[in-house]
Amino acid sequence: MSKRDDVLTTGFGKPVDDDQNSMTAGPKGPVLMQDVHLLEKLGHFDRERTPERVVHAKGAGAHGYFEVTADVTKYTKADFLSTVGKKTEVFARFSTVGGEKGSADAERDPRGFAIKFYTQEGNYDMTGNNTPVFFIRDPLKFPDFIHTQKRNPRTNLKDPDMFWDFLSLTPESVHQVMVLFSDRGTPADFRHMNGYSSHTYVWSNAAGEQFYVQYHFKTEQGIKNFTAAEADAMKAADADHATRDLFEAIERGEYPEWRLEMQIMPVAEADNYRFDVFDITKVWPHADYPPMTIGRMVLDRNPDNYFAEVEQSAFNPSNFVPGIGPSADKMLQARLFSYHDTLLHRLGSNYHLLPVNAPKNAPMSSYQRDGHMRFDDNGGAGPNYWPNSLDGAGPDPSAGDPGMPVTGETGRTPYPHPNDDFVQPGALYRDVMSDKDRDHLVGNITGHLKNAQERIRLRQCAVFYKVDPDLGMRIAQGVGVDVATVERLVAMSSDERAAATVK
Ligand code: NDP
Repeated sequence: MSKRDDVLTTGFGKPVDDDQNSMTAGPKGPVLMQDVHLLEKLGHFDRERTPERVVHAKGAGAHGYFEVTADVTKYTKADFLSTVGKKTEVFARFSTVGGEKGSADAERDPRGFAIKFYTQEGNYDMTGNNTPVFFIRDPLKFPDFIHTQKRNPRTNLKDPDMFWDFLSLTPESVHQVMVLFSDRGTPADFRHMNGYSSHTYVWSNAAGEQFYVQYHFKTEQGIKNFTAAEADAMKAADADHATRDLFEAIERGEYPEWRLEMQIMPVAEADNYRFDVFDITKVWPHADYPPMTIGRMVLDRNPDNYFAEVEQSAFNPSNFVPGIGPSADKMLQARLFSYHDTLLHRLGSNYHLLPVNAPKNAPMSSYQRDGHMRFDDNGGAGPNYWPNSLDGAGPDPSAGDPGMPVTGETGRTPYPHPNDDFVQPGALYRDVMSDKDRDHLVGNITGHLKNAQERIRLRQCAVFYKVDPDLGMRIAQGVGVDVATVERLVAMSSDERAAATVK
């Protein structure tokens, strides 16, 4: 019998005779185990959800391309950046971080900004945020930090005490806290925000010279943010407004575009640079390393199926191509492990073979075999080991990047510049923000911090005071704590302050 493609079938291809009436023992009798179509349908439905991403659960994505607009061959040998005008297919996913999959797009939160470049040398993933810095600089703190942004283990409620207790005990977080509580913490949608690598990466050229780099994807739509009141109104009106905005803009043919600006530093300059280039709580001021425009990203195609293309998309900062590699940033080093690990858990051992994740423009010839849900030919009859004398694919030494010099003893050592955590947030407050930005910042912080216990409010006000006395005073007044007590806490070390404000 030739198969008709308009006939409904089971997952195994058997034609279905009736999809409205379960099979019963008599018209009023119980449902029968032998209704295998019903059992298969319910069994699959029961397993429709993959585990939610523990961070970045709510997101939207789109396909497009990246085009090189400037010659960067003296900095990197990456093939997809090798020629002006060269275009590479991309898939980008934007997200909130802390909320669950059903949370509102307008929440105050960093936004994930992840791009997969389907290059001819394999897939390259750039997994950034819409903020140039991060809350912590050591990965041992990451699970604790995320717990404090989620729900209280007893009440299952978001908890301002947890939120501010951790942050006030972790003063390195204040730079990112300032960005988050500026109106950039509530971008109007995904199209009107920038994306930053936040981490420092290493580029290397054909001669083996190395450069530290930072990526800045600048929105050509212009920055547009919500005020706190506008964000609250949007949360009530449409929990999915940014997902909707991205989808509808692309359907209308209004393709969002970002310009890629790079900050590039010869590695030899890092040792004597005034900021630690591996400290993700710091930026490189533009005056020191002026950003250079090298390309553009355009998103021009919506996914046909959200689950297949967006939910199953798997971004992994350890997906590099020759000419681009990791720096010694401790947070980045841990992400090189953690993303792959969580994807193995969330999507399974062969997540890299799913169409959205598989290399599209490069051959894939690995000796990895088997595992759950291996849905290609699993290497067929070819060898599954290397070295082999069967003409199997072998390594190409020219794909390697030069190593980085490493010295010192093993140990648990904090970052070496403990006293500069307030310099850059201070510059943001005093030199970058307008009066209106400062008013909104103070209002946004006080609106949240006022809900925490007094001892925590005092401690966090001392941190803001260290950024700038005017900021600390305004917030102290806004959250109703004693300014003289805040000033006493400011004079203490971080440990003394913690001890003085313990419960
Ligand atoms: P610049 O004046 O050269 O750059 C300031 C940057 O701040 C611009 O990129 C601007 O982005 C961005 N900006 C404006 N408002 C906000 C906000 N509310 N939150 C976050 N960023 C904002 O100064 P410097 O390079 O000397 O940096 C000064 C301070 O600016 C830094 O300490 C840091 O806090 C912040 N900053 C610096 C960045 C960098 O890579 N150097 C990147 C982003 C922020 P845009 O041009 O897109 O409007």
